Amino acid sequence: MERAALLGMAGLLPRMVSARKAVSYHQNQIHALPVVISTWRHGIPSNVAAMKVLEKGGSVLDAVEQGVRVPEGDPANHSVGLGGFPDRDGHVTLDASIMGPDGNAGSVCFLEGIVHPISVARKVMEETPHVMLSGDGALQFALQKGFKKTDLLTPAAKQKWQQWRQKHKYHPEINWENKPNEYHDTIGMLALDKNGDMAGACTTSGLAFKLHGRVGDSPIIGAGLYVDNAVGGATSTGMGELVMKTVGSFLVTELMRQGRSPQQACEEAVLRIVEKIPDNKNFQVGYLAMNKQGETGAYSLRKGFNYALYRDKQNRLLDARSYYTF
Ligand code: ASP
Repeated sequence: MERAALLGMAGLLPRMVSARKAVSYHQNQIHALPVVISTWRHGIPSNVAAMKVLEKGGSVLDAVEQGVRVPEGDPANHSVGLGGFPDRDGHVTLDASIMGPDGNAGSVCFLEGIVHPISVARKVMEETPHVMLSGDGALQFALQKGFKKTDLLTPAAKQKWQQWRQKHKYHPEINWENKPNEYHDTIGMLALDKNGDMAGACTTSGLAFKLHGRVGDSPIIGAGLYVDNAVGGATSTGMGELVMKTVGSFLVTELMRQGRSPQQACEEAVLRIVEKIPDNKNFQVGYLAMNKQGETGAYSLRKGFNYALYRDKQNRLLDARSYYTF
């Protein structure tokens, strides 16, 4: 059967319905907007914060910023912001990006000493002619804008790093979040407000015990995050190098532009990794996508990726399907 016919059967027809009607169609159900989707278990409280902004009529950019600030400020979360695991030299270095419905984007990378890199990324977007600031330049910019310098290395994260250092290994692990009592991995969030306008945010302390200076996918517009308000958006988590080599979030968004559903687009982007980077056995990548109608998709390379979806007054933790069943 022709791909177009298959796509039609897969429910592309509702795409014709204007998002301005403040409804979306997902698996043959009508859903009210707004919708918020974000990566991992820490997405649950983050979605609550984002939805609160949207329900009060706040902007979709404020929603994603406030949403991802939750894990950034949580010292118990070892993969985002304060309390993040450091690099192998003991520095907590943060990456973050934000993108709004007007196509504007801002990001920071390799930033130390600031609890909320997402808010610095937003200032880069709104108050400079640039998209990305890095390292000490990003820190100086943040301090000029009134952000306070804070030691991000908590005693718990320092202890983990010291244990790791004793072993002197560099082996990235997959799906850390499955380890008991530890909340891990990047938060990537997409929100669609009641008018059908979309924004996204992505923030992380990156891969634990990475080489000093390593930057991942999360602050790279088009890799860790992409939003095109005419189409939808995508965000990623997992081994950033695989996402960067395939420009993952831009790829997912472009596939949606060509007519794929968010689910089909996420699956195709993971397949691209499998094809282009066959040596992926130690790594995880997870994609989330949402289109302008509020339909969502989630797919990962390996088992274990979960995400939080807040729609129709329900905020639920869901398991993504994966390419490999292990
Ligand atoms: N994608 C992030 C990075 O590579 C890490 C993660 O999501 O766990 O920096």
